[in-house]
Amino acid sequence: MADAKKPYSFLYGPVPSRRLGRSLGIDLVPFKVCTFNCIYCQLGPTTNLTIRRRPYTPAADIIAEVDRWLSEDGDADYLTLSGSGEPTLNSEIAQVIDFAQQQTEIPIALLTNGSLLWDEDVRREVQHLDLLIPSLDAATQEGLEQVNRPAAELNIEQIVAGIAQARQECAGEMWLEVMLVAGVNDTDEELQAIREGIDVIKPHRVQINTVVRPPTEAYATALSPQQLKAAREVLGPLAEIVAPLPEDYAGDSDHQQTAEDVFDLLRRRPCTVNDVAVGLDIHPNEATKYIMALLAQERIGPLPKGDSTYYVPV
Ligand code: SF4
Repeated sequence: MADAKKPYSFLYGPVPSRRLGRSLGIDLVPFKVCTFNCIYCQLGPTTNLTIRRRPYTPAADIIAEVDRWLSEDGDADYLTLSGSGEPTLNSEIAQVIDFAQQQTEIPIALLTNGSLLWDEDVRREVQHLDLLIPSLDAATQEGLEQVNRPAAELNIEQIVAGIAQARQECAGEMWLEVMLVAGVNDTDEELQAIREGIDVIKPHRVQINTVVRPPTEAYATALSPQQLKAAREVLGPLAEIVAPLPEDYAGDSDHQQTAEDVFDLLRRRPCTVNDVAVGLDIHPNEATKYIMALLAQERIGPLPKGDSTYYVPV
């Protein structure tokens, strides 16, 4: 019989999400298996940069946890397939989707960097989801290499064509996310190329974000509100700005105790986001949230060191 107090290994939340309400995260790949190594990634550098699909986390293990969660709790606005990397790299993603769709009416979303949607197997496996949220941060090869630093096999024409094909085939909606980094992919030329990509893909919505969470590279910084508005003009009428403000994090007092635990840890030693996640046995996305809250309260500050950003009390 399942132990109700046993923590989950592959589920986190439900966490409040601006776009999805109360969202239960389902981790399909472990830290950090990805087709990209984005300069703005909140999880830190990619340790396994690959396009090889494998059961990085076996579907049976994930399904067992989803089954337990549905029987013990089961209340969320969305089940969100994501991961500490790119979730479509899990070759058993279809088994997880099929199980969840058979067991619950809760809509299912997929957060993906969109880099494998040229693969018809991947498109077929995700086509019945309620919501696809792929990213398109660049639409030139140079931009892709600067911001996403992809695995060598990937090229931008293939990626845009794959996302466009998925848009045609998916049963639910597609919201395209564009993450803008100041001075990197916000040039006139890159924004115009992304606009052309949007015109080809024809998503239901385009959501512009910028770097508000601790990035992998310290030089990955946010656009100003004025720059975001100018970018929105270029990206067209579908585009909306969804970047959260630091106050959003400061205002989240649900988990004050954990925020204090994070602060105590940082008082003892400087940590990266991943150090905090490992040290407190929480998901890196949750660690990021607490670090954002402490940054907004100006209790801690960033300390770039080598390839990583550490956080220390100020
Ligand atoms: S932001 Fe997403 S796509 Fe980019 S490296 Fe991180 S996990 Fe991979």
